[in-house]
Amino acid sequence: MYLTPAPNAPHTIDVVVVGAGFAGLYALHVLRKKGYSVRVFEAGDGIGGTWYWNRYPGARCDIESVEYSYSFDEDLQQEWDWPARYADQADILKYINHVADRFDLRRGIQLETRVTSALYDEAADRWTVATSRGETYSAQFCIMATGCLSTPKQVDVEGIGEFRGRSLHTAAWPREGADLTGLRVGVIGTGSSGIQAIPHLAAQAAHLTVFQRTPNFSIPAWNHPLSDAQRQVHKAEYAVLRAREWDSNQGICRVPVRGDHAMDATPAEREAEYEARWQMGGLSYYMSYVDLLTDPRANETVAEFVRNKIRQKVKDPVVAEMLCPKDYPFGTKRLCADSGYYETYNRDNVTLVDLRATPFERFDAGGVHTADGRYHGLDVLVTATGFDALTGTLSNIDIRGRGGERLSARWRGGPRTALGIMSAGFPNLFVTTGPGSPSVLFNMILGNEYHVDWIVRAIEDLRRTQRRSIEPTAAFEEHWTRHVNEVGNQTLFTQANSWYMGANVPGKARQILLYLGGFKAYKDTCEAVASKGYEGFALG
Ligand code: FAD
Ligand code: NAP
Repeated sequence: MYLTPAPNAPHTIDVVVVGAGFAGLYALHVLRKKGYSVRVFEAGDGIGGTWYWNRYPGARCDIESVEYSYSFDEDLQQEWDWPARYADQADILKYINHVADRFDLRRGIQLETRVTSALYDEAADRWTVATSRGETYSAQFCIMATGCLSTPKQVDVEGIGEFRGRSLHTAAWPREGADLTGLRVGVIGTGSSGIQAIPHLAAQAAHLTVFQRTPNFSIPAWNHPLSDAQRQVHKAEYAVLRAREWDSNQGICRVPVRGDHAMDATPAEREAEYEARWQMGGLSYYMSYVDLLTDPRANETVAEFVRNKIRQKVKDPVVAEMLCPKDYPFGTKRLCADSGYYETYNRDNVTLVDLRATPFERFDAGGVHTADGRYHGLDVLVTATGFDALTGTLSNIDIRGRGGERLSARWRGGPRTALGIMSAGFPNLFVTTGPGSPSVLFNMILGNEYHVDWIVRAIEDLRRTQRRSIEPTAAFEEHWTRHVNEVGNQTLFTQANSWYMGANVPGKARQILLYLGGFKAYKDTCEAVASKGYEGFALG
């Protein structure tokens, strides 16, 4: 319950949650069960976050649905039937809506409401949160469940504003879909979104031109419908599976996890392992030899294995070489999971343009000129150009902590966090799966559940001990930020110009944005901090 305020006075509640994706919905559920007054604000006109916005053809998860789903309620697990190994966007959104109805969450969520600012009132130890509807809320706690991949990145090419065809971003795809039949379609971007969309775009378009700047490593998803019998097996195994996930580094446990080194194996053993992983599909290589992401020699063995798969699939050898990544280590940009991606380049109606060799020169009303003097006439331009990840969405909100310090200013040189959950000078402001946490390197639904549970425990502990605020010390924040960077520097991830490094957004500080020590070590640290009375945090 929250109180109806006098005119112009803020609504007073315990907790404001920003975002109604997996994280925000779970936060609402847990906090409400514990008796807190909570309001969730969501910019979209529906719930679901990522799965509300990203409706492009081919969008589906890259972690099996039996794992990429909430773990907190056994009855929910038993009653929900996933139609396929990897559910598509529509089915994931259906699941999220089912969860909202089942746990009566909708009445706590305010849609079409963007949070514009959150200002900390030091005297009152409260946050004043303003929305795009002109309302203000005063809350003791603020949970930014705003998502890691929720601010789409646009392309800045000369003349792009003059393009008079239809422009579509994969992360803002129209709800009613887009009929591309018989049209000349161009797509910019060959990350996970582009790679999932391209086979579908090619099947519809009269002609598809793929503008590729950097090729990605993509592994077949081997997606398939699930039978009733398979679903029954999954349901019987949930308890064991979830226990293993919580004790794992990736939260993906339906494939074997190795602990040995590629460089200790013979070439024949490695080949057999890589072939077995290829047949498992998807992200399974992340659970293979432990040195693949730390030793360049080990990495090159798997990189060349996958390049050879690309060469086998793509008939034109010149196109095949263009599709082979060669200038960054395997897996240091998120591996993609595809359904017929490379095979698409064997179609007569698909052209691949290498933007490294022939960059864009200028768009005009009807298409784009490239540096080789060619003109690509287009009816539709699809941008699959990714996101200002992890920090972009938070920077778009005017968040000011102690002394009026802006979070975006504090993070200008790269994000500084304690455990990826809080930042010094911003008491009682929490972020889920944010920078400095394992974030997207762990099954993100479980990662969000873990963060919400940790945050709610902290809130409960404050209440129990009659304290009003929690905030990391500057020393602990410094220690954690340094630790995140040190661990990152021991891996090959820092060699790629990826969004993990902030390198996809011009002007963004280059810094590893994820904690690469694995979820197990991360969770142990978070648990130790909490059990020692929030060591490294000041309780006010
Ligand atoms: P989100 O789902 O991003 O929700 C955040 C919400 O906050 C959004 O709805 C946004 O509108 C809202 N918001 C932001 N700012 C404001 C504001 N100022 N005011 C009000 N509302 C605001 N992860 C995996 O682990 N496995 C996968 O298979 C996988 N597939 C993915 C596929 C795609 C296409 C993308 C883009 C990401 C994928 N991810 C995957 C990552 C995915 O983002 C997470 O798994 C998860 O859905 C994130 O949930 P969330 O609640 O943290 O954030
Ligand atoms: P992304 O991985 O950042 O890929 C963006 C693509 O656009 C890259 O190929 C990039 O090239 C290109 N690009 C960006 N700006 C460009 C420009 N100005 N000119 C030319 N090319 C440009 O984004 P994404 O594909 O949307 O995926 C983001 C993340 O979302 C994924 O890593 C994954 O975590 C998640 N996701 C998951 C799935 C799934 O399978 N479940 C699906 C979609 C997304 P460069 O590499 O050269 O920058």
